[in-house]
Amino acid sequence: MTHTLPELGYSYDALEPYIDARTMEIHHTKHHQTYIDKLNAALEKHPALQEASAADLVSALDTVPETIRMAVRNHGGGHANHSFFWRLLKKDVAPEGAVVEAINRQWGSLDQFRAEFSSAAALLFGSGWTWLVWNGDALEITTTPNQDSPLSRGQHPVLGLDVWEHAYYLKYQNRRPAYIEAFFNVINWRQVEANFKAAR
Ligand code: MN
Repeated sequence: MTHTLPELGYSYDALEPYIDARTMEIHHTKHHQTYIDKLNAALEKHPALQEASAADLVSALDTVPETIRMAVRNHGGGHANHSFFWRLLKKDVAPEGAVVEAINRQWGSLDQFRAEFSSAAALLFGSGWTWLVWNGDALEITTTPNQDSPLSRGQHPVLGLDVWEHAYYLKYQNRRPAYIEAFFNVINWRQVEANFKAAR
């Protein structure tokens, strides 16, 4: 089995004006595709690992041979993270459900959660991701560098934001905080709810 690019399930302009069509197209067909190509190349001589999903691979990096472990970490992580991210994006979905109740209990309000998540995303140095994860006991805001997945730490992603410059530079240039603010208009809370239920 080789890994293939998943369909977005919506058009490249579906998230306008918050995330522009050109960025979505390049991000999906070029950046995500490149992670997949490099993951497939790394696994070429390792047929036993070819049946595993990217999420399974990054969940158990210590079982991956050392010669390809870094490639799987970077490109398997890139494939898993982007596949997760695309499903999180949709306009006009109201925040509701058990996950929003849990956020309210933990942060006091959705606004307070948003402020802390946004701050973590803005402060992340260089390229990486900001996450809301289920850590086994509670929800937690965390970040990962590069394409590292929370799955490699035993954390289950519920919500995630790609803060690599390739995710926002065409429209927002250096204004990462404006991109983070826009992201909160395109969160598919129904998918976040499904992720939360699966994680628990
Ligand atoms: Mn990306």
